[in-house]
Amino acid sequence: MKVILLNQDYSYINSISVRRALRLIAKGKVTVEKYSERIVRTVTKDIAVPLILRLVYLIRQIYRKAVTWSKKNVMVRDGFECVYCGTKNNLNIDHVFPQSKGGKNTFENTVTSCVNCNNRKGDRTLREAKMFYKRRNFTPYQPTVMEFIKKYLDSIGVYDLLVEEGIY
Ligand SMILES: [Zn+2]
Repeated sequence: MKVILLNQDYSYINSISVRRALRLIAKGKVTVEKYSERIVRTVTKDIAVPLILRLVYLIRQIYRKAVTWSKKNVMVRDGFECVYCGTKNNLNIDHVFPQSKGGKNTFENTVTSCVNCNNRKGDRTLREAKMFYKRRNFTPYQPTVMEFIKKYLDSIGVYDLLVEEGIY
């Protein structure tokens, strides 16, 4: 017996097992659109088996060809961490080539930075500010759609579950 999993916009994603369905419900990742007639009996209670589930969050990126630039998407790419010091607090966007000198809002020219590091770097390039990325081999890049879907699903906590279901 399978449970139908819909995207937040009601488009079909996949059929998943009852066990996975109950886990998604327990984690609050889905709402039950329709229950089946079946009941699962456990020691403590009876659980109505769902027939159709719908994700609380829309998986929007599935339909796009390229990931569009936004501050939030830069943070998703960088794992919501300052690329300079690694903190997860007071995050903002830093322009690698300063905006005041014509630096653009692109994935290649922007990184996640905490307010402190952002202020320290100021209107200078990395070299001028004598600053380094925490991960030395890091270069700001345009994420691919697949990579971004993974990171996005990770950030809302469903990626592992969807991988286990063979959806990704
Ligand atoms: Zn920092």
